[in-house]
Amino acid sequence: MAMPKLAQVPVAHDKLRALGILALNGMFDEMDALGVLRYAVSDVLPGDLAIVSSFGADSAVLLHLVAQVDPSMPVYFLETGKHFAETLDYVETLKRHLGLINVHAIHPDPADLARFDPAGTLWETDPDSCCHIRKTEPLEPITLQFGGWVTGRKRFQTKERGVLPHFELTSDDRIKVNPLAYFSDADVNRYKIEHGLPEHPLFAKGYKSIGCAPCTSVVAEGEDPRAGRWRGLNKKECGIHFDFNGAIASPMTNAAATKHTLWKDGAFIADPFREWAEDDTPATAAYKHVPLAVFLANREAFLATQHPLGLLVVPGDRIEDVEGDLERFASVAIKFPAFTDGRGYSTARLLAERYHYANEIRAVGDVLQDQIPLMRRCGINALVVTHEPTRQALVENRLPEVALFYQPVGLTEVPVGTRPFLRRVH
Ligand code: SF4
Repeated sequence: MAMPKLAQVPVAHDKLRALGILALNGMFDEMDALGVLRYAVSDVLPGDLAIVSSFGADSAVLLHLVAQVDPSMPVYFLETGKHFAETLDYVETLKRHLGLINVHAIHPDPADLARFDPAGTLWETDPDSCCHIRKTEPLEPITLQFGGWVTGRKRFQTKERGVLPHFELTSDDRIKVNPLAYFSDADVNRYKIEHGLPEHPLFAKGYKSIGCAPCTSVVAEGEDPRAGRWRGLNKKECGIHFDFNGAIASPMTNAAATKHTLWKDGAFIADPFREWAEDDTPATAAYKHVPLAVFLANREAFLATQHPLGLLVVPGDRIEDVEGDLERFASVAIKFPAFTDGRGYSTARLLAERYHYANEIRAVGDVLQDQIPLMRRCGINALVVTHEPTRQALVENRLPEVALFYQPVGLTEVPVGTRPFLRRVH
């Protein structure tokens, strides 16, 4: 396939949907990394792209590309407060060397640290919660500011990323650009040498994948580079659903769809939450959806815990009963027990419209293809999908659109014409 010239494929951001993300990827299959990034910056999302960098062992390659295309592109660094001193030095080294002029450190909320990790040892007892308050929460408001993100993910890194495309469209219409998708491990090393990029000071000491100091160890020869992260713990990822260092599966992979059931931001991803068990207590509730009735019966004990909580709402529950506690929940799961039971939609609308709940609202239970557009209209932004045809439809980006409806929701749906019982999407 001939390499496309930029001038032959002009695409404005507002036309991206019409063109289709698959077609866009088809055009750029054989474009090199620099060309992909240039095109993304100049034509797809001019002025609306940013990057989150770990300033780890491989970060210099992507940052070097950014510096060539637009050294003023916003670069965010998650300053968790737990990095190696060498990593903090490396941030300054790369800024100087590459001429990056728009690098920002994102810090955890001091109130969260004081409340949940006063001794700074949460990583030891509950690393999921530690990552949540030091990475996920500080990053989320930043992600909302941009139309797209540049990631350093590569196909070779995991099986799930085997078909990672250059461009991905998330469920909230943001674009992820993966210029290094086709890079091999050897390509990364060759690139670093060819361009004389400074190496992370710990790389030569055997650190092949570098994150926070307490959770990073030296990797032996022949070991998976990520084996040194959270060694000895059943933890591979930091839990950031919008993962920039490269944890999340491509939304286009059947393998990912088979493995995971949580669909969020246009992809099937590893679910940080686990099932609530009958013998669970407030002490074991981390990353579990506590049934609303159980929460109310033990409210004080749950609120006194320091880990991320979810809430499970089943038909008959009143979300109004926990109105004042909603911000304590990282996720609310709404149970849809049957296709014909619409009470979950009302719960979702109350959360989104009356309480302005901004965290995850997920649908669980009988989640079917035809319901999904309605669920999304009501504010549901994550789905647990076990129905195989529905999973396949999501993988292939096949969802029915709803253009006509009786009850408009939110601010974007307004009535047209003179028939008040028939509303059309604005
Ligand atoms: S990587 Fe370790 S220290 Fe860093 S935020 Fe996660 S658990 Fe905490």
